[in-house]
Amino acid sequence: RAKKTGKNRYCYFNQSLNDKALKNIEIGAGLHEAIKNDEFVLYYQPQIDLNSGDIIGAEALIRWVKRDGQIISPADFIPIAEKNGSIVPMTHWVIQQACIDCARWHRAGHSDLFVSVNVPSTVLAEGNLAEIIRTECSAAGIEPCYLEVELTESVILENGDHIQQQLQDIRDMGVSLAIDDFGTGYSNLSYLSRLNVQKLKVDQYFVMNLLKSNQDRTIVHAIAHIADSFGMKTVAEGVEEDLLIEPLRELRCNIGQGYLWSKPIPVLSFMGLLGQGASSQDMPEVPA
Ligand code: C2E
Ligand code: MG
Ligand code: MG
Ligand code: MG
Repeated sequence: RAKKTGKNRYCYFNQSLNDKALKNIEIGAGLHEAIKNDEFVLYYQPQIDLNSGDIIGAEALIRWVKRDGQIISPADFIPIAEKNGSIVPMTHWVIQQACIDCARWHRAGHSDLFVSVNVPSTVLAEGNLAEIIRTECSAAGIEPCYLEVELTESVILENGDHIQQQLQDIRDMGVSLAIDDFGTGYSNLSYLSRLNVQKLKVDQYFVMNLLKSNQDRTIVHAIAHIADSFGMKTVAEGVEEDLLIEPLRELRCNIGQGYLWSKPIPVLSFMGLLGQGASSQDMPEVPA
């Protein structure tokens, strides 16, 4: 009897694994087409200066809108895109679109706002990122200092020559660098100090547990302290309740990002949030 149950279980497990594998193959195949078919959209989530309460910029977060209107979350396709190589043209598209949108905010009178984009180390290792950034900033008409590149902690470990050179070139242009989800990886602190990073983004897990866990509070404090001593800013991600704002200020976090202020939203909604909806002088760009 036990054996039979075991066998059934095995079959069930196997079937669901199979479904997942099939789904992933389908996603992988669709990714290459998605760029050509214009199926990606960027949503924007504001970053707020915790002292002034002002919106100072926004993170670009990709969404895949299938033809039937279904929206696929990046968690479901970015890992696949990294494996099948489509992450390289996808990241190029993200940088291009983010620069175009940031230029619109500037033209609408919000001329200090920055935009940040997520760049995996696989893209830094392969592509010519510095050149792409230079080209897209100049095509959109924004100074590179309004672009921020979010790297993962793994980039600090994989400090190969090519990656290091790319990062140096990007920094020389005036682009700022941020380390995403900081605190969950294995950062090499001496390399971090040499990387010339401007921001550490504290992983949302620590932020969400701030009021419940002394340990997580201590971690946030330590990260903010490291950032301070290296002349970097600290961004708290995943801020969902206003009870967190005061403690975050006390722990010397400078910037907040989270559902408390806004979920990631389409560009026109973001411009509405800025107090400037889509006006006639700001018609959508004609695609090049
Ligand atoms: P991330 O870069 O750490 O982005 C932050 C994620 O946290 C976003 O999820 C955002 O919606 C979510 N978030 C922000 N505030 C809150 C909050 O208060 N509560 C909760 N529960 N969540 C919050 P999203 O947009 O689903 O993106 C997930 C991850 O996918 C990103 O994590 C990033 O690693 C990756 N990703 C998103 N867009 C891109 C992209 O254009 N390129 C690449 N390479 N990766 C991307
Ligand atoms: Mg990010
Ligand atoms: Mg993050
Ligand atoms: Mg994350």
